[in-house]
Amino acid sequence: MAKLQAVRGMHDILMHDTPRWQFLEKTIRDLLDQYSYQEIRLPIVEKTELFKRSIGDNTDIVSKEMYSFDDRNDSSLTLRPEGTAGCVRAGIEHGLFHNQTQRLWYSGPMFRHERPQKGRQRQFHQIGVEAFGFNGPDIDAEQILMCARLWKALNLNDINLEINSLGTTESRLKYRAILVEYFSSHKGQLDEDSLVRLEQNPLRILDSKNPDMQSLIQGAPTLDEHLDTESADHFAALREILDGAEIEYTVNPRLVRGLDYYGKTVFEWISNQLGAQGTVCAGGRYDGLVEHHGASATPAVGFAIGLERLIELANFENIPNNAPHIYLLISGEQAIKPGMLLAEQLRNQIPSIKILSHCGGGSFKSQFKKADKSGAQLALILGEDELQKNQLTIKYLRTNEPQTVINWSELANFLSTSLSLQAIPSK
Ligand code: ATP
Ligand code: MG
Repeated sequence: MAKLQAVRGMHDILMHDTPRWQFLEKTIRDLLDQYSYQEIRLPIVEKTELFKRSIGDNTDIVSKEMYSFDDRNDSSLTLRPEGTAGCVRAGIEHGLFHNQTQRLWYSGPMFRHERPQKGRQRQFHQIGVEAFGFNGPDIDAEQILMCARLWKALNLNDINLEINSLGTTESRLKYRAILVEYFSSHKGQLDEDSLVRLEQNPLRILDSKNPDMQSLIQGAPTLDEHLDTESADHFAALREILDGAEIEYTVNPRLVRGLDYYGKTVFEWISNQLGAQGTVCAGGRYDGLVEHHGASATPAVGFAIGLERLIELANFENIPNNAPHIYLLISGEQAIKPGMLLAEQLRNQIPSIKILSHCGGGSFKSQFKKADKSGAQLALILGEDELQKNQLTIKYLRTNEPQTVINWSELANFLSTSLSLQAIPSK
C-alpha cells in the first residue's frame, strides 16, 4: 500500500505549533476588536464563476492556480483562493452594502495550486479585512495603522511598508497604453509570462518575480506621472495621515497587485527575513468590484495577511504556557470513579483550573513520569490510602516544597490559593 501522506503543499499544523497559531490569532482578533471590525464566516467553496468575475481571467490565480471541480450537477465549484470575492458575494447577497458602511474580517484556509516552497503552500491561511462604503483615504489609513499596531504587538521591527496609487480606471487605461508601447519596444527581453501579460494585462508585468526581468521593469515608465488629480489628492491625503502617525513607508511607483480589481491605494508590508516570499500582508482599494457584480457602486478597501509567513517572523516569547496546573494520579481500580468525580468537582469550583487526569492505570512510577512530562505544577495523588480517608496527597513538581496531605473538602480552597485562581464561592 502507498504510504499515507497529506497532499503536496498542504500541511498539518501539529500540537507543538498550535499554541503559536492560537496566540497569533488571538492577538489579531483583539486588535480587530479594538478597531471595531466584525467577523464574517464564509464558505470555503464558491462557484468558479465568482472568482473568474472577481479576480479576473488574466490573473495567475484564475488562469493557473485554482482548485476547481465539477459538482454533482455539473456546475463548477472552486476552493477559495482568497477571501475578498466571497465577502463581496455575501455582502451583496445579504444586502449589507445598502445605505450602510461595513468593517468586516474573516479568516481561514485558502487554496492555490502554486509550486510549493518556503512561504508558499497550496493550502495556506489568511486573515482578511475589508471595509465597504468609504470613499476617503481615512479608512485606507486606518487599515495601514491597524497593521502597524499588529506588528508592534508581535514585536516585529523589520517589516517595511510600500504604497502606491493605481489611479482611476481612466488613468490606468492611459498608463496601460504607455506601458504597452514600452514593453513592445523591448519584446525580446520579455519572458514567456510577460509576453502573455503584454497582450492581456500589461500592468501585471510589473508584478513579475523573475530576476531577469527586473532591470527592464525598473526602466518602465511609472503611473505617478499620469495620475489623475482625484487619485493624486486621495493619495496625498493618505500619506499625510501616515506621516502624522509617524508610519514609515516607501512610495513604490511599480507596486501593482496581482488581482485585477484594484485602483487608487495599494500597499504591501514586506519583510527582508523571509527570502523571496517576503510579502506578509497585501491590500488596497477596489472601488469597482461591487458594481462589477451588478450591485450599486460601493467603494471598498481591504487587505489580507498570510499567516504562515507571519508565524515565521513573529516573536513568541510571551506565549502563555498551556501546561496543566495539575496532574491527577489515580492508583487502583477503586480510585478511578472517585478520582474522575473529584476532578469534575474541581472544574466546577475553579473554572480556570487545568487538570490532566491520569487515564489507563499503571504504576505510580510511570504515572509520575507522565506528570513530570506534562509540565504540571502539582501532582495530586489518589491511591487506596487516600481514598479510604477522603484525602489527597499533594506533591510539588517544580519546587522543593515538602509534600502534604489534604482533605477533599478543603481541596478547592487550597488549590485556588496556591495556584492564584479564582474559585466560585460555595453556597
Ligand atoms: P505572492 O506575490 O507572494 O504570490 P499574492 O499577490 O499572490 O502573493 P495575495 O493574493 O495578495 O498574494 O495574498 C495576500 C497574502 O497572502 C500574501 O501577501 C502572502 O502573505 C499570503 N499568500 C499568498 N499566497 C500564498 C501561498 N501560496 N502560500 C502562503 N502564503 C500566501
Ligand atoms: Mg501569488
